[in-house]
Amino acid sequence: MDTLTRAQRSERMRQVKSRDTAPELKLRRLVWALGHRYRKNHSSVMGRPDLAFVGRKKAIFVHGCFWHRHSCPSGRRTPKSKVGFWRQKFNANVRRDAKVSRELRAEGWKSLVVWECQLGNRASVGRRVRRFLDA
Ligand SMILES: [Zn+2]
Repeated sequence: MDTLTRAQRSERMRQVKSRDTAPELKLRRLVWALGHRYRKNHSSVMGRPDLAFVGRKKAIFVHGCFWHRHSCPSGRRTPKSKVGFWRQKFNANVRRDAKVSRELRAEGWKSLVVWECQLGNRASVGRRVRRFLDA
């Protein structure tokens, strides 16, 4: 028997989907290879960053270009049907990202966003991550 409402189930699905995505795994492997240790989806850190470096108060987010509206082609793509629905969804994501980043900053944290499309260039992402963590 199903005990979840439709809304609860879709929320649950959303949460499941947002963890351990391919881009996240890629970034984690890269950061691990750089010799940095982190907590993933640390729930006591604002915004539950993909990677949290608690001692350094630094957080890294891996954002899917489509969902979080990167300025690249896949971030500018909008489905042709249910335009209003998508626009609302995208706006909510972008607003949430901005809020999380503001609140982290207010708590003395620094955050870095790595976009999905940037993970193709491992060397460049590696340099950015290293600069961010060492700064
Ligand atoms: Zn992108």
